[in-house]
Amino acid sequence: MSDGRHRHDAPASPYLENHRTAEESAELAERTARLEDYLVEKGLVARDALDRLVELYEQDIGPMNGARVVARAWTDPSYKLRLLDDATTAIRELGFGGMQGEHMVVVENTPTVHNVVVCSLCSCYPWPVLGLPPGWYKDFAYRSRLPIEPRAVLKEFGLELADDVEVRVWDSSAEIRYLVLPERPDGSGTMTEVDLAKLVSRDSMIGVARISVETE
Ligand code: FE
Repeated sequence: MSDGRHRHDAPASPYLENHRTAEESAELAERTARLEDYLVEKGLVARDALDRLVELYEQDIGPMNGARVVARAWTDPSYKLRLLDDATTAIRELGFGGMQGEHMVVVENTPTVHNVVVCSLCSCYPWPVLGLPPGWYKDFAYRSRLPIEPRAVLKEFGLELADDVEVRVWDSSAEIRYLVLPERPDGSGTMTEVDLAKLVSRDSMIGVARISVETE
């Protein structure tokens, strides 16, 4: 999946492959629809509430929220300090919080430290700022390999790190959710906060990609 705003020439990641056949996807969609019908029929959920929830995650909650947090941190040094000190509160300043983001920790990438996030146990992910996790984040391959050989996994995502860069892997838990504050790219010096936010990709906030300014 790509957010459509950030393109680069990195090789396609093996983690981004669709592991399901069209038949399997159709079967899953069918099963989901039947489950929804059943829950509605039993009066356990209201269909418009479900629709609203799906709409929320499709339109209002997603990586664009995290991108706003990152752009603010890049342009406002005092905000960045608050963000690194108490991410939950600083993120709430921008209006983002709630379910799966109750205890946020932001880790900062620098020229000498690269942070990357995983949930080795399952799929814990900071929903209010990144939306729902991509399929590869939930894959066993990513979850099991990243903590053991992060450099090799990052390389498969097209991100090669110099030997002198320290890699820190953050394992999410039911309590704590991490967001990577990527490095502000060279060449972005004159950009506004709004334009900077458009540069920030979901993958850069998980830590499997870097951000660069496109020159066309
Ligand atoms: Fe998890």
